[in-house]
Amino acid sequence: MFDAELLKKDFPALNQIVNDEPLVYLDNAATTQKPLSVLTRIKNYYENDNANVHRGVHTLAERATADYEAAREKVRDFINARTTKEVLFTRGTTTSLNWVSKFAEQILKPDDEILISIMEHHSNFVPWQQVAAKTGATLKIVGLKEGQLDLQDLQEKLSVKTKIVALTHVSNVLGCINPIRDIAQIVHEMGAYLVVDGAQSTPHMKIDVQELDADFFAFSGHKMMGPTGIGVLYGKEKLLNEMNPVEFGGEMIDFVYEDYSTWTELPWKFEAGTPNIAGAIGLGEAIDYINRLGIDAIEQHEHDLMAYLMPQLKAIEGLKIYGPADLQNRAGVLSFNLAGLHPHDVATALDMEGVAVRAGHHCAQPLIRLLDTSAEATVRASFYAYSTIADCDKLVDALKKTKEFFT
Ligand code: PLP
Repeated sequence: MFDAELLKKDFPALNQIVNDEPLVYLDNAATTQKPLSVLTRIKNYYENDNANVHRGVHTLAERATADYEAAREKVRDFINARTTKEVLFTRGTTTSLNWVSKFAEQILKPDDEILISIMEHHSNFVPWQQVAAKTGATLKIVGLKEGQLDLQDLQEKLSVKTKIVALTHVSNVLGCINPIRDIAQIVHEMGAYLVVDGAQSTPHMKIDVQELDADFFAFSGHKMMGPTGIGVLYGKEKLLNEMNPVEFGGEMIDFVYEDYSTWTELPWKFEAGTPNIAGAIGLGEAIDYINRLGIDAIEQHEHDLMAYLMPQLKAIEGLKIYGPADLQNRAGVLSFNLAGLHPHDVATALDMEGVAVRAGHHCAQPLIRLLDTSAEATVRASFYAYSTIADCDKLVDALKKTKEFFT
């Protein structure tokens, strides 16, 4: 039995009073709270094993290196990559996607096309604008249909000119789940590469990169109970071999001569300088925690929460929900607005009730403009394994109070 209420005990930050109310943390799409096991693991690392990796022969250096590489293996297993050569540690999704955009700069020509969607987070939007500007390639944007990705528009915009398709797996605003596996097939038939932003999917559902058949897949540790400053770029080995390193310096070289240098093997070819060792180890511990819960159980739990919450939100007059109506295609991210109220006022009022949500454009300005919100913003409640039915009740209650207060 999945007991979210019990889980809360593992998360020190969740057990606090905010504005005289017990905290209800519903900003998990921005970042998640960390269980004690992750916090303790990081502390233990610094207290006992702190050393640089891949360099020293002393015991601490060997322990740090072994733990850092063990974390990579945990990530590999978690996403079912073929080999740890395909798992690069980065600072997070943003860095991962920026690295892929450098590969795109390496291969794109002026007549080529890049396809993204209107729902992309700025970190899967702006780098592609930059690539287009630098290479002369054209950036095309797939639109929405009924609150989710317009697959027909995607098919129509995909052509032999398309070289890169970069899409989010789950929208951080609409909560919709994009059918990446099917999309990978049509993208590959056209001879293009598929880049997937997995920031909002990896923490919440089983990711099998081989089954999804994405060429690149990016995600962040802090959105899956791990620390900030650590993330992953998965890439198919063949492509990572073709891709030039993005950063240069220590750790990533094989030989350095006066006039040129050669690179070491994957995955270290990409990891210049001292990496975020504690971050990687903390992410490994977060993966252990998620594995103990079971990622399928987490997905089911969030789905159950949505099924419970949606009808109650829909019953609040003047509350508009964005994204697909169909619960099947939805993850635990819910954007809405209350008629006549500014989203920031709603979020502030909810905070006074101890409910933490986010209001704003959620780093997706092109999408928010399309959504026809009066303030170019939405309120967003986002859930995780430790979210409960009681949290949903508190949100609904606080929204009703907010409405009454302002009207
Ligand atoms: N992509 C999506 C869909 C996101 O929701 C986010 C973060 O909110 C990012 C990318 C960027 O992640 P990070 O800030 O961890 O690099």
